[in-house]
Amino acid sequence: MSNRLFNWDLKPATKFIKKVKVGEYSDGTPISLLVRVIKGTNEGPTLSMLGVQHGDEYNGMEIINRFMEQLEPQDISGTVIGIPVSNPLAFNAAGRMAPESMGWEELNMNRIWPGNPRGLLTERIVASIWKNVITESNCILDFHEGGKCYLARYIWVPHNDDTDKIVGNQVEKIYGFFGQGIPVNAKPHSMTSPMRGCLEIQAGLHNIPCIAPELGGGHRIWEELVQDGINGARNVMIGLGMLQGEPVGQEKKQLVATEAFSPRTLHGGICYNSCELNAIVNKDATLGIVKDIAGREIEKIHAPYKSVLFDIRHQPIVHSGDWLYACGKIS
Ligand SMILES: [Zn+2]
Repeated sequence: MSNRLFNWDLKPATKFIKKVKVGEYSDGTPISLLVRVIKGTNEGPTLSMLGVQHGDEYNGMEIINRFMEQLEPQDISGTVIGIPVSNPLAFNAAGRMAPESMGWEELNMNRIWPGNPRGLLTERIVASIWKNVITESNCILDFHEGGKCYLARYIWVPHNDDTDKIVGNQVEKIYGFFGQGIPVNAKPHSMTSPMRGCLEIQAGLHNIPCIAPELGGGHRIWEELVQDGINGARNVMIGLGMLQGEPVGQEKKQLVATEAFSPRTLHGGICYNSCELNAIVNKDATLGIVKDIAGREIEKIHAPYKSVLFDIRHQPIVHSGDWLYACGKIS
């Protein structure tokens, strides 16, 4: 990367936390991103990590902060950049997206990359991260999770024919480095789908491998999933030659599904899980039972095929049409 980030001079062997202004609230109060940087003593690639693109997903923030606290410049070849909270508008509103009152349109941050420096507020924040951080990086870890309703443990790899040609092999390497037996959702998305605006696809089109570890959910911090994230980030750095050491958890087999399906409920009610996160279930296995508010069973939810479970339901209250489990097809 260049020796500048935003308007800061990056000298070798530095570690700092700074804020950068990306907009203003109505009363003129600055809207800022907090950015963590560690530039190693030795030259090497740049790894960037984003947390909280969705404002109610907290484990990525925790992973980035705890992992980067442990790293020192003398241990690193290259540069590590972390933005614990990438979407301060949504984070401050404790919602997935920024509220309509802040920036209009309730844009989903991870569908509008690479943003627009002259666009709406969320588009401007995205454009600033894109120009200053993403395009300067050799690899991106974009942490997500299940939000309010789901508990997740998988690596999301949105891709299509175009990104496969450019970064397909690099992306496979990166999720393999992250490892630890965390299953991979590698379902393809066409360029006409709204997913074309996710960071993973846009970075891929620019020859920057980007994966989205989905770890956690339910509006809380899960210690064991935070540890998966810290180990995964460390494993990626070792794999890229940025850090010395032995990767952890690589003896565990990592399942990769290129087809995924999320069964939905016909009825509203209360969902009771019959399965565990990351379980391997057979076709037609019962994943959960929906009961009415009198406690009477009204629906069973079944696996569409032999699957590994990427997400399970965390919020028990469901409406007609809600998806309840994410099933990755395995043979
Ligand atoms: Zn997310």
